[in-house]
Amino acid sequence: MARYTGPVCRLCRREGCKLFLKGDRCYTEKCAFAKRPAAPGQHGTSRKKVSQYGLQLREKQKVKRAYGMGAQEKQFKSYYTLAAKQQGITGAYMLSLLERRLDNVVYRMGIGDSRAQARQFVMHGHITVNGKKVDIPSYRVSVGEEIAVKEKSAGKDRFKQIMEQAGKPIPKWLTFDAENLRGSVVALPEREDIDLTIAENLIVESYSK
Ligand code: SF4
Repeated sequence: MARYTGPVCRLCRREGCKLFLKGDRCYTEKCAFAKRPAAPGQHGTSRKKVSQYGLQLREKQKVKRAYGMGAQEKQFKSYYTLAAKQQGITGAYMLSLLERRLDNVVYRMGIGDSRAQARQFVMHGHITVNGKKVDIPSYRVSVGEEIAVKEKSAGKDRFKQIMEQAGKPIPKWLTFDAENLRGSVVALPEREDIDLTIAENLIVESYSK
């Protein structure tokens, strides 16, 4: 299945929550979901009753879309498999693993306007981890690692713009120095650090059958 490339705001309205796919626009009153939350085609009518299985699928799809993994079922499931082996709450651990993806970390630091843009930066080799180029979006960061824009890339206009426009709130598990385009992982992300409306227990249910 190809990656979804249609108008992304429709996805938020379909999933019934903000997925933050359009950068700064998501935080303004221009957000299409804030203006009209009904799912595409529903014209404001109430939603059909959905089965438990349907709810599980929707929730899974929602999280996959938010993290740009719509077509990557195998990789997505691997987060569940790893989380299920840990002690503690599987759903929360699974979300923590997703948050630790390098593309997400770059986005959370404010280097990318959206996760999609952050992923491009990683794939195009603009990002380093502890001084070494890492171009794998799914790379999992650990506490103590330093994430930066490569020195050669930092002079490019789009990164200069980021330096100038810095000021987005950074989650408490990360630090970011906009002047030097570098930051670090100071803790592991916890459930409360994830600002998406997710019922992760439904995802766990769907995989643990
Ligand atoms: Fe569009 Fe962002 Fe609002 Fe979603 S959260 S509807 S992507 S502007």
